[in-house]
Amino acid sequence: MKHSHPLQNTLSVNPLYLSAPDAVALVHRKGLRHCIAAIADNIRQDFLRWHDFDKSARVANHSAHGVIELMPISDAKAYSFKYVNGHPTNTAIGLPTVMAFGVLADVATGAPRLLSELTLTTAMRTAATSALASQLLARPDSRVMALIGNGAQSEFQAIAFQQMVGIDTLRLYDTDPVATAKLVANLSASCLKLKVCQSVAEAVQGADVVTTVTADKAYATIITPDMLEPGMHINAVGGDCPGKTELAAGVLAAAKVFVEYAPQSRLEGDIQQMPADFDVTELWQVLSGVRTGRESVAQITVFDSVGFALEDYAALRFMHDTALELGLGQHLALIPQMADPKNLFGTLLQAESATIHAVA
Ligand code: NAD
Repeated sequence: MKHSHPLQNTLSVNPLYLSAPDAVALVHRKGLRHCIAAIADNIRQDFLRWHDFDKSARVANHSAHGVIELMPISDAKAYSFKYVNGHPTNTAIGLPTVMAFGVLADVATGAPRLLSELTLTTAMRTAATSALASQLLARPDSRVMALIGNGAQSEFQAIAFQQMVGIDTLRLYDTDPVATAKLVANLSASCLKLKVCQSVAEAVQGADVVTTVTADKAYATIITPDMLEPGMHINAVGGDCPGKTELAAGVLAAAKVFVEYAPQSRLEGDIQQMPADFDVTELWQVLSGVRTGRESVAQITVFDSVGFALEDYAALRFMHDTALELGLGQHLALIPQMADPKNLFGTLLQAESATIHAVA
């Protein structure tokens, strides 16, 4: 006998699949600036609902050259996770340093609703988070940004800061001049003033904001205390797992430091170098007015970004809503579709009888 459920005929378990080409088409049709701003809005809304979420530090599997991470989060309605890697040596063999995909699912049933590429989306959400943090923490008259590390994430950071923070000049440095040349070519239509520099120190000189987005699995000290200028805001994006940093400890000690989710950032962020009780402020606390952001024009502020699951949840929401609006993606037969949900075995019998019919 069949067990029927009132919603049986209306529920589909086939999630929408958004491929990398679909995501590119989505960004083309909506515009990159629109996408970054809309993701930033979603991140702001979701950070303001901080206590609605079941949060945890991501699960990381480390190896000699990199890390593979799973990033889950949920509220009462939706669950998401991202699979993401970080392998700084990948580019030498023609692979990206960072590759990602993820899922958005219904909490009430556990049914997956979206399976999406998240490599491009991660670049947009990381840039959106950086710019959102800078809106809160950088001096409002900030116009010049040093951009150290000119790889896959860098154009997205540049465009987000131009649009959301008012940056009009970039001072660029990468140990790989080919990466900087690529960035300059890609930003040629952006109206940003670009200055290629020969060292980190030269790039940082006179900058209001310093973004570090380098990839190296090492305790790097790209920014040192002698480079600091009063009122600087540092957006440190690349130090995002144990044994991988960008800022000297003295930079953190001289600054007021902001993080996404302290339990994860203390393991993975630049603050992994600091004592366990080192004072940090979470971004949601500034957004909601629970704690102050920048306290004076001269104060040095640091956003020690590592990437938090809630940003991916917010970005997946945007990609899902927009894909549905634009009719992008296709439904994927990921979960067996059964008239009787208790008869999983029946799907094998169906396939078997189909094979017998085909042979006969
Ligand atoms: P990528 O490999 O494409 O680019 C990194 C660039 O950094 C390369 O061009 C490399 O030459 C340069 N570089 C390395 N060491 C340098 C140094 N000492 N000085 C100057 N330049 C240096 O990587 P990507 O995808 O752009 O990612 C950059 C970093 O951001 C990675 O470490 C990644 O893990 C991290 N990331 C963080 C978040 C987050 O949410 N915080 C999100 C995505 C990526």
